[in-house]
Order: sequence, then structure tokens, then C-alpha cells
Amino acid sequence: YTPLAEADPEVQALVDRETYRQFRGLELIASENLTSLAVMEANGSMFTNKYSEGLPGARYYGGNEVVDELEVLCQKRALEAFHLDEKVWGVNVQPYSGSTANFAAFTALIQPQDRIMGLGLADGGHLTHGAYTPKRKISASSIYFQSLPYQVDPSSGLIDYDALEKNAILFKPRILICGASAYPRDWDFARLRKIADINGSYLMMDMAHISGLVAAQVSNDPFELCDIVCTTTHKTLRGPRAGLIFFRKDKESDVEKRINDAVFPACQGGPHNNTIAGIAVALKQAATPAFKEYAVQIVKNTKTIAAELLKHDYKLQTEGSDNHLVLWDLRPLGLTGSKIEKICDIAHITLNKNSVPGDKSATVPGGVRIGTNALTSRSMYEPEMVKVADFLHRAVQIGLQAQKEAGSKLLKDFVQKLEGEGEAAKALKQL
Ligand code: PLP
Repeated sequence: YTPLAEADPEVQALVDRETYRQFRGLELIASENLTSLAVMEANGSMFTNKYSEGLPGARYYGGNEVVDELEVLCQKRALEAFHLDEKVWGVNVQPYSGSTANFAAFTALIQPQDRIMGLGLADGGHLTHGAYTPKRKISASSIYFQSLPYQVDPSSGLIDYDALEKNAILFKPRILICGASAYPRDWDFARLRKIADINGSYLMMDMAHISGLVAAQVSNDPFELCDIVCTTTHKTLRGPRAGLIFFRKDKESDVEKRINDAVFPACQGGPHNNTIAGIAVALKQAATPAFKEYAVQIVKNTKTIAAELLKHDYKLQTEGSDNHLVLWDLRPLGLTGSKIEKICDIAHITLNKNSVPGDKSATVPGGVRIGTNALTSRSMYEPEMVKVADFLHRAVQIGLQAQKEAGSKLLKDFVQKLEGEGEAAKALKQL
């Protein structure tokens, strides 16, 4: 057992640099977080070594008595963290990621070429919800299933539930998917349930982004009305990188077997037990009052950033946020999301360019997505968010200036103030 620093100084150096990068800068990527040391220890534990295809008590390998206990503990904690009754809900904790969890859920519930409806990619939906472009099917969910995305209302930025209902009546999806990667508002599950019931569709929520908020009960509860709830575990939930599938047991008698079979052997091999250990730790943490406070603060922080940006008359999708993210439409300023992402990168502010509804091309996204989960994990509150919003405002002003005059003074001053000027100057040339 030679420690990493000795066994592989090259990789250790990269780990050190990445650790520095994560703490040196401001992390505003809405799908990321800073997980706890305890989660990382579990994630890097001896469970890495074990094969355990199958389920607790029914494995294809020997030596799984400890792994069985771990997986059952993780399942129990998953139900507890989301306030679920084990008689009504079951959970599979083996998905390697959110994408596999979603595909396994489709595999369990419907047949190839059946129909699905999810929020369109340009409107904030995720790739795995049936995304395609006019030129190509970009996700396995649109390659293997027929997909008709629904949209937001371009004037309000809110999901257009009326249009969704009309199209669902025509398209008759087998699964109606809700949940998103870039939607700043809460979901109307009562309306979605009604629409799903018109055709007897399954209602599936992908709560990947907001699962921490759901656990803390600071957003609408998908479990009241959905049949299936999938999630990643590493966004607002603050766990290791993985996925979970919750299924309503009483809706259909064999759904439990179908979900479990879809995860393994249909879509995956042996579970990553080290990750399951990390998830178990994260779920224990998510059930604490401290986590609830954290989730409440995430929403307060997001609202603060939104309010500060609105003071400058910037355009935000839906003019604000109910959750952990703000989607900032830069098109009225004549700027692209890529440009602001680069300027922020130079200033050690990490965020991502993002399509905004109505974008003509997915390759030139007209906005950026800003999330507060990671900064809230670093104990930042409203006063810090006011500063962060000011940094973002300055980034945009620099972008505007750069657009007006190449090599502008404002831009040069900005670069000069930064350490590592060589690197910054190089990045600047790419703007
Ligand atoms: N679902 C949603 C809503 C997401 O935003 C994401 C990722 O960002 C995923 C699923 C996919 O998760 P993963 O990257 O773990 O496959």
C-alpha cells in the first residue's frame, strides 16, 4: 500500500492542482458540488475491489456478505432521505450515472421505438430525455425511442403546459418525462399527472439537478404524483458521481423486477460498490437538519444573484429562480455564452455556456447557467452572492468592451491584474 504521492507523483500532482483549482476559484457550475471528505473516503475505499453482480442476497459472486449489508443500508437511507414509505417505494442504487439510470428506466418500462416526451434540449431538458437536432439523433434515448420534445413558452420562459397537453394528446407518449438541466423553476406535478393520465403514460421525474432540494423539502415533491423518479447523486445532493432509480411499487406489480433487471444485466455489469458506499454516506448527510439549512440557503443564494443581475436589467430566463440555478440570456447584449464562459475562466469563475430557449444553433449558446450549490457548500451566504453577481456583471462589461474594440484598455487592465498573466493572455487571444 504505497501512497499515491509515492506510487505516482504525476497523478498526485494533478490531484493537487485540481484541488487547488476547485478552491482557488468560484465554482458556479449548477451540476457540480463539493462533496464531503467522508463521501470521498467511502468512494475511495476497499469496496473498489469487489465484484457483486446481482442484488443483495442474490449475487453471481461469493464474498458479498459485507457488500450486501452496504447496499441494503444505502437503499434504506435513500428511502429515508426522500421521506418515502418502503411499502410504496423501492429504489435501485446501482446506476453508474444519471444517464444510465434514465436509460435503464426506459428499458424497464417501454419497448424500443415506443414514444417518449421530455423537455427539449434547447429549452433546458437533458440529452437523455429524447434529445435530437434537425440533423441527427444525438442521444440513445432518441435513437432507440420515438421522441417528441415539449417546450417552454418563449414569452415567459415557463413550461408551456397547454401546448404540452395538446401535443401529448396527439403523440400519446408511453413516458412523460419531467425534470431538466437548465430550468430555474419548480415543476407542476399535478398538471403533469393529469396530462400523463390522458394517455395512461408513465410519469417519470428526473430530479438530478434538484434532488438535494427535494430531500430537504424546499421544492415540490415529485414522489407524490410520479411513477418513477431518477436522479444523479452528485449535484445538489452532494454525493459521489452516480444515479438512483426510485419506483412506485404499487403501481404495477412487476415494476421492481423490471427496473432491477434493466439496471443489471440489461444496461450495466457489476455495481460500483465504492460509489454505493459514498452514496450511503451522502444520503445520511442529506437527512440532517444541517443539510436542510444548506438547501434553504442554496435557494436564497440563487435568488440573491438573480435579484442583483436584474438590477442591471439583464435578461434572466423566467426572470428569476425557485431553485439552485439562474439561466442568463446574453443575446440582448449581443454576447455569446462561450465568450462569457471564457472571460470568467480567466478570472477563475467557473460556469458554463448554455443554450437559452429560441437559440438558433446549439453550437453557439446564447446564455450561461449559474448554480449556487458549490459556493453554498463553501458556507457562502447572501453578502458573498452580491459580490459574485458583481463579478459576473464586470465579466459581461469586459465582454461588451472586448466586442467593441479589440485589445480594449479595460480588458488589458483586467488581464494584468490576474496572476499567471501568460496563461490569461493566451486565453484572452481566443476570445
Ligand atoms: N439528468 C439530468 C437532468 C442531468 O442534468 C444530467 C447531467 O447533468 C443527467 C441526467 C446525467 O447525469 P450523468 O452525467 O451522471 O450521466
